Amino acid sequence: MNLIEEVLNQLPGDVLGGLRKSDRLLNSLRENTAPIPQVVTQSNVPLDNIEWDVVICGGTLGILIGCALVKRGWRVALLERGVLRGREQEWNISRSELEVFLELDLLTKQELENAIATHYNPARVSFLGGTEVWVNDVLNIGVDPIYLLETVKNKFLAAGGKLFENTAFDSAVVHPNGVLVSNTFSTRLLLDAMGNFSPIVQQARQAKKPDGICLVVGSCAQGFQPNNTGDLLASFTPILNNCQYFWEAFPARDGRTTYLFTYMDLDKQHIGLETLFVEYLRLLPDYQGVELSQLQLQRALFGFFPAYSQQLYFPWGRILPVGDSSGNQSPLSFGGFGSMVRHLKRLTLGIHEALATEQLSPSALKLLQPYQPNLSVTWLFQKAMRAGIDRKLDSKQINSLLSAVFDQMQQLGEPVLKPFLQDVVQFSGLTQTLLKTALNHPLLIARVIPQVGILSLIDWTIHYINLGIYTALFKLGVLQNWVKSLPPTKQYYYHRLIDKWQFGSGYDLFS
Ligand SMILES: Cc1cc2nc3c(=O)[nH]c(=O)nc-3n(C[C@H](O)[C@H](O)[C@H](O)COP(=O)(O)OP(=O)(O)OC[C@H]3O[C@@H](n4cnc5c(N)ncnc54)[C@H](O)[C@@H]3O)c2cc1C
Repeated sequence: MNLIEEVLNQLPGDVLGGLRKSDRLLNSLRENTAPIPQVVTQSNVPLDNIEWDVVICGGTLGILIGCALVKRGWRVALLERGVLRGREQEWNISRSELEVFLELDLLTKQELENAIATHYNPARVSFLGGTEVWVNDVLNIGVDPIYLLETVKNKFLAAGGKLFENTAFDSAVVHPNGVLVSNTFSTRLLLDAMGNFSPIVQQARQAKKPDGICLVVGSCAQGFQPNNTGDLLASFTPILNNCQYFWEAFPARDGRTTYLFTYMDLDKQHIGLETLFVEYLRLLPDYQGVELSQLQLQRALFGFFPAYSQQLYFPWGRILPVGDSSGNQSPLSFGGFGSMVRHLKRLTLGIHEALATEQLSPSALKLLQPYQPNLSVTWLFQKAMRAGIDRKLDSKQINSLLSAVFDQMQQLGEPVLKPFLQDVVQFSGLTQTLLKTALNHPLLIARVIPQVGILSLIDWTIHYINLGIYTALFKLGVLQNWVKSLPPTKQYYYHRLIDKWQFGSGYDLFS
């Protein structure tokens, strides 16, 4: 038996089988061989009777928006193909982001405290042969998904929402006045919360390959020395296997979680999850100063996150993606829960207004999926953090670059560093960091240009200029007061414009 079999066979269930299944899915994405589902069709005939205002397909993050909408008086049904239950492994997030659960009346103060399973400080960012940066209160809260989802589910049911478990979405017919879901549920609006591999998203993307991908493997285990600090981003190896390995570690309720993750393009020659898991087991002892034999594994964790540089818009009216299916999360992190929480109020108010004013056409719903230059600029960083198969980079290049950039950010202080680590890039912080890095490390910056390519750089420059424009427009606050005097339908459009500037400039972090 080899090491990976030995380790994973300690756990109940066929974990290795699950890992290999994920690898097959990854390969089909790389080779673009998966068939394109045809689950959405259109009809010109209006529906006779519409039972629901909103049908949500997918329960994990769908229940959060479902509960928020049912509390606003809408008739909401939630379809989950399995049983609605959160996963064992905590979701990490920053404390201030959780306030939205109180604001939207999804949790009481006590329930919010109960949902927080772990809390640690400080967290480190470190790179091979370079800077160590320590921060407090960034992504240092572990939320218990089981408790959170169960509590929100009970509120949803108490407020009149209807949950249909073991009920898989299989089709949607879009009529002029509603959508017929799985031939059974008629609704004014369908929310697709079926995750990265939603059949609706696959149909809408028409087999477009992702622009990048992040592979993650790891575990939660007991047997480490007590340690109440964490790593947000740590690397201690040069480029190996055409990958720059990054690590994350933090205390969990039942042990310590450690992740190894890496960014890559879709080249078929890149390693898969099983090989990355073997690397994880090989390097974990060095990383955490512990022998594998000392550890009692609680669970293995793995996944991959496709990311697209273009915002996803559905060509049909009355269907909107939310959660991972919307592709709204940063290409740098796999923090889809954090991203959903950050956008929860925007989505709740936006969907509420769309329903109230019947703005459910493709162009009206597109505004709830706005282009966000602050996310688009991070594409260049993902490209700078990955090593292509055919590019012969200096094995320390990525470490040297990141070390230099974080060194400059640390000197600029927490107002620059913290938003970046929370997936929020802001114009002033980005400009200061780039200028300072370019002045102090011109050669490093020059070396990145061939790595990312000139086209990516031009593309980035456009997003960077847009980031500046969005920041100025949001800070000017030109529309905020005037919009109140408009009729509700016009307000829907102007509110979306304000949201777009706010979220697109990263100013939601301070709201
Ligand atoms: C190892 C790992 C660690 C992570 N850590 C963090 C973290 O610390 N912080 C953070 O913010 N995020 C983290 N994430 C990401 C986070 O887990 C996801 O962003 C989140 O689960 C996305 O939720 P979702 O509901 O959009 O999609 P999914 O989690 O994919 O859920 C989709 C839901 O839809 C249901 N479904 C699918 N198909 C159908 C169908 N046909 N009909 C009906 N229902 C259907 C599924 O059963 C499921 O309930 C991590 C992910 C991984 C893999």
